Amino acid sequence: MHVGEIEVRRSARRKRSVQVRREGNRTIALVPANLPQAEADEVIARLVERLERRERRNTVSDADLTDRAAELSAIYFNGKAVPAAVRWVSNQNSRWGSCTTNDKSIRLSDRLIGMPIWVVDYVLIHELAHLIEANHSARFWSLVDAYPQAERAKGFLEGVSHRQG
Ligand SMILES: [Zn+2]
Repeated sequence: MHVGEIEVRRSARRKRSVQVRREGNRTIALVPANLPQAEADEVIARLVERLERRERRNTVSDADLTDRAAELSAIYFNGKAVPAAVRWVSNQNSRWGSCTTNDKSIRLSDRLIGMPIWVVDYVLIHELAHLIEANHSARFWSLVDAYPQAERAKGFLEGVSHRQG
């Protein structure tokens, strides 16, 4: 995130909230006049990150995710785990992915967007494995471990969670 590339407009009329938006190639942040700079920078950084996530999400659609999940299932689970649908969600802050076994749907946190593809694949694999084995049993982990990057991806995600507190 480069706050320097963002045009910050202070407004006395703006009371509380910071707003970030694109105007053509430029990124504009509308900031209340009396908000301290450090605090403004922090809020702007967070809002720009959220905006970028939302924009990137348009490039990897839910349909792409669903196709990818089917591909991974074919490769690692002989096609045994078939999700009805996979979609991005933004309200999932403590988990990277979740699934509902009833309707065989999978949801991925959009915080994964921009992470290496083998990490996103791992989360898909993890949720696909839950469609076969609901609990984190030994059988579940042996399914997940069919994915060669499983350990590496787990370590990667633990590192991210740790940094984000
Ligand atoms: Zn799990």
